[in-house]
Amino acid sequence: MPEARLQLTRRAVAEHAMLVAGVTGALLVRGAGSRAMLGGVAALAAVLTSTAVHEGAHALAARLHGIRVHGLVVRGLVSAAVRRSPAHDARGHALTCLAGPAASGALLAVAVPLALTARGAVWGTYGQVLALADAVAVLGSVLPLPGTDAARALAGPVRA
Ligand SMILES: [Zn+2]
Repeated sequence: MPEARLQLTRRAVAEHAMLVAGVTGALLVRGAGSRAMLGGVAALAAVLTSTAVHEGAHALAARLHGIRVHGLVVRGLVSAAVRRSPAHDARGHALTCLAGPAASGALLAVAVPLALTARGAVWGTYGQVLALADAVAVLGSVLPLPGTDAARALAGPVRA
């Protein structure tokens, strides 16, 4: 089995670093003290969790439908995609496209109660950023705009 590859663009690295710095700075201003940096790392962990669940669901659905997965490219804080071969049929294509938003929606259902109940620089930040990231992932996936998961599902499989 060929190895799946992870590709991080410079923009992605920069945006994730800015997230850590920005959240750390905001927590310092709010008086989190020595836990501010941990809060910044918690924000990064939340975004990575959201991305891993969303893209992992796309990859798992693809594999279950016999579609070859080549890797994952992370282009930015809210921009990632599984690189894969075209689907063999419309059903497999649609389910692969919709698996990501479905997984993000399920994670959002867990993240919202966490965001509302968790306290502190680490768990409070993790819950809030996870809920925000999953809400953005769901909304950004289901809007009928070019390039979204919903638009790709409706367009059907693309053959080279
Ligand atoms: Zn997606």
